[in-house]
Amino acid sequence: MKAALLNKPGRITEKPLEFGEVERPSAMAGQVLVRVKACGVCRTDLHIVEGELKPQKRPVIPGHQIVGEIVDGATADLPKGLPVGVSWMGGVDGTCALCRRGMENLCDAPVFTGYTVDGGYAGYTAARADFVFPLPAALSDAQAAPLLCAGIIGFRSIRVAGVQPGERVGLFGFGASAHLAMAVLQAWKCEVYVSTRGESHRRLAESLGATWVGGEREKPPVELDRAVTFAPSGDLVVAALGSLRKGGVVAINAIHLDRIPEFDYDTLLWGERQIRSVANMTRRDARDFLQIAAEIGLKPKVTLFPLAQANEALAAVKRDAIDGAAVIVP
Ligand SMILES: [Zn+2]
Ligand SMILES: [Zn+2]
Repeated sequence: MKAALLNKPGRITEKPLEFGEVERPSAMAGQVLVRVKACGVCRTDLHIVEGELKPQKRPVIPGHQIVGEIVDGATADLPKGLPVGVSWMGGVDGTCALCRRGMENLCDAPVFTGYTVDGGYAGYTAARADFVFPLPAALSDAQAAPLLCAGIIGFRSIRVAGVQPGERVGLFGFGASAHLAMAVLQAWKCEVYVSTRGESHRRLAESLGATWVGGEREKPPVELDRAVTFAPSGDLVVAALGSLRKGGVVAINAIHLDRIPEFDYDTLLWGERQIRSVANMTRRDARDFLQIAAEIGLKPKVTLFPLAQANEALAAVKRDAIDGAAVIVP
């Protein structure tokens, strides 16, 4: 099968992904084999390819927003031909203290798709049967792909931020994950305030009906109940904190941040404001979000790239040059 392989991390401008033919994986016990039809590009892929996340497997096939159909290892619940998605969480042990407390997103022995095991920048992928998700029929393959991490983790972020219907919510950064979170917030009748760099991201936020849209250094005109930061920048976390009412919460939707700058406790955190990180996802997050996505008819904005252009797709994500989500089609 065709695949994009990462042998050695490097700057994306140096095109670290190599392309070639590799042996098609087979479904081991408890796994299904999925023929990949589309695979979304996530900022985490960029952190893996550029080496901000320590290499776990060499070579590795990145990609963890996989849409495809089951071709082997079918079960009664997952019949052959069923459209399914595979996400970042490729498996957990189910036995550690955190799994036993229902916090499988924090499992001590997790499997991460496209990082600790091969992912979906390829023709086929093998995945644990208990970690694949049947997909809503209404979406095209390419439109379903960004739901699987950008969508699920964006949804988890607004959960972690504690968003209640009707609240004022700030989104700092407006890439794939934020534009999907916004759709859920609108369904919950929240007011959405978007601060982001890039004129085209601001236009997209406006066209999607944001209550207010400003540049990344502009402060929303009202105090926010909740905020989510989406770019890997600590400055943004401080900007988000500075926009909160007392008792408000900032959730950081990023697996890696450049740093957290020093900030003034008295004015920014005191008053029971909180900063929370968002780590991974649970299968419940995935199922709940996919159900909401189907109910509200969520249709992500996508830009397609052929597999051989995976380096270019990642470079475009790094430059914030994509409106909506980048999706690789093998
Ligand atoms: Zn565990
Ligand atoms: Zn991701």
